Amino acid sequence: MFARHLVFCRNIKNVPETFNVCRRSHKFSRQFPSFNILNQPVKPIFYRNVRHATTNSGSKKNLPIIIAISAVGGAAVAYSIIRSKKTPVSETDDDFEETPFVHEHLDEDLALLSEFGPIPYLLIGAGSASFNAYRAIRTVDPTAKVLVVGDEAYLPYMRPPLSKEVWFDKKTDVAETLSFTQWDGNSRSLFYEPPSFFFTLKEVLDNKNGGIAVIRGKKVVKVDPVGQVVYLDKGEKISYNKCLIATGSKPKNIPVFENADKSIKKHITLFKTIQDFKKLDKICKKCESIVIVGGGFLGSELACGLARKGVSSSSTVTQVFPETGNMGKVLPEYLSIWASKKLANEGVKVIPEVEIKGLSKQGNKIELQLSNNQTLKADHIVVAVGSDANTDFAKVSGLEVDPLHGGFVVNTEMEARKNLWVAGDASCFYDVNLGRRRVEHHDHAVVSGRLAGENMAGNAKPYWHQSMFWSDLGPDIGFEAIGIVDSSLPTIGIFTKPNETEINEEKGKSDADQESASKSKLETDSVLRAPKSADNYNKGVLFYIRDDVIVGIVLWNVFGKMPIARQVINESKSQDDVSEIAKLFELHSTE
Ligand SMILES: Cc1cc2nc3c(=O)[nH]c(=O)nc-3n(C[C@H](O)[C@H](O)[C@H](O)COP(=O)(O)OP(=O)(O)OC[C@H]3O[C@@H](n4cnc5c(N)ncnc54)[C@H](O)[C@@H]3O)c2cc1C
Repeated sequence: MFARHLVFCRNIKNVPETFNVCRRSHKFSRQFPSFNILNQPVKPIFYRNVRHATTNSGSKKNLPIIIAISAVGGAAVAYSIIRSKKTPVSETDDDFEETPFVHEHLDEDLALLSEFGPIPYLLIGAGSASFNAYRAIRTVDPTAKVLVVGDEAYLPYMRPPLSKEVWFDKKTDVAETLSFTQWDGNSRSLFYEPPSFFFTLKEVLDNKNGGIAVIRGKKVVKVDPVGQVVYLDKGEKISYNKCLIATGSKPKNIPVFENADKSIKKHITLFKTIQDFKKLDKICKKCESIVIVGGGFLGSELACGLARKGVSSSSTVTQVFPETGNMGKVLPEYLSIWASKKLANEGVKVIPEVEIKGLSKQGNKIELQLSNNQTLKADHIVVAVGSDANTDFAKVSGLEVDPLHGGFVVNTEMEARKNLWVAGDASCFYDVNLGRRRVEHHDHAVVSGRLAGENMAGNAKPYWHQSMFWSDLGPDIGFEAIGIVDSSLPTIGIFTKPNETEINEEKGKSDADQESASKSKLETDSVLRAPKSADNYNKGVLFYIRDDVIVGIVLWNVFGKMPIARQVINESKSQDDVSEIAKLFELHSTE
């Protein structure tokens, strides 16, 4: 039964040798914990709902076209009005930055602290790792007094929706309300908790039941692990009993943009924060052309989201990157090229295998010279070329940074020094199964933050739980992954075959596609073949192999099976067992 419905794709060191197939696409949703109005510590809950997609992207895209045809005269008038209202980005209105945030009553707060003595728990950074550490601390130590110092203007929030749902939302005020519609249609806030959840520092210190206070807009510049003191940017000091570093990562740039002059830099965004989202949202409403540099998760998700936004604002979105396909550092080549086609269907102009050779300002636009001698004009450029661990104060604090992976070096308990822990993107930890690693993903921030928090409050637990990550490329592609997922490793992909409807849809596309679609229907399974460009990879599982052992798994449009994948990684299964292991994922089930 299984063999009749599945196709196997083998891609060993970029020498593909495979076979594949596909089924109906699904859309799923991830819901984050809702507000905790009781101010009680809660365990983070991670739900996933699966819903059937009723339309594919093609038919959704057709809808505006049909409407436009039926109202062609009106549409032409409306179009000219919209275009005339769209003011191109100019040098005079390019100030999209918000006024710098100033934490009120900081001096009073710090004076209170010096009277109180060392704060029991000090968390540096107000991101996901830090907030989940807080929750774990309060679970083990219910009256804990916790102080967070973060350099952003905002209370703790989650970043993944910033490159996904917020761009697909029909509401136009998401950047103001910071509340967005999840894939399942429910609304939620980007913030973990509303402002009422947090106390002032005075309240935390006075309250016998403790709680959490956040000092926002302040940077930590040094940690003295011996004296157990943290220094802020104006020389202010905070003594601690236990401290967590959760400074995350910062976006990388490339020299051609770094060395550009100020008038060009104003047209460049390195995307990471709520502030960046607000800025890009404003820019999108004004500009006609956006170029995204980078083909990884962030660049690809943003390209997809901005292209969707562009459908209403009539701006064009171009994505350029050196790899042969989207997410080429993670996915085997055949799948990343297939993903690029899907992005093109979403309206993104994808230009693979190019680098940026030069930049110049042409009026109000930036002209990019590409390595293939093409030039592109852009109102705005988003650079999404990866991140580096934020270890700015490592040297001055005498803390070790891993020379290979970056990040503060910690042991299996996430501890760097006595009474000093590190979690999230900023940590380079020892994974009992997969060796020394650094992971830049939300689930790792949650898991490692929680572990560090528990250990700060008195436990001594090792990092054992294998974290996962995910990416969504618009309505058709969502995947979840675990372990070492690196396209330089050999992979074995197993995909479901298309059903009759999908084959017929394929047949309608072109003669070449028609031929290959018919073949994929006829081909039965146990014959290995290389992936073809016309293959559909709508649903499947990919295994990444190192030294004959499965070290990474991607679940491609397969949801709710992560615990199985985790077990496979934890048990270091051999690649010889792949066919049997694939059955566990029930790819043939209809969900
Ligand atoms: C747009 C976007 C989309 C993403 N989507 C996904 C996804 O789909 N799936 C997934 O698994 N992961 C995703 N990620 C990655 C995920 O969000 C990160 O791995 C996670 O946020 C890491 O959490 P963290 O707490 O370690 O660091 P961060 O979230 O980076 O938080 C660290 C905080 O510390 C602050 N800070 C840094 N230095 C200092 C200092 N010296 N003093 C005070 N404060 C400081 C920073 O400003 C920041 O606010 C995404 C990331 C981004 C940016």
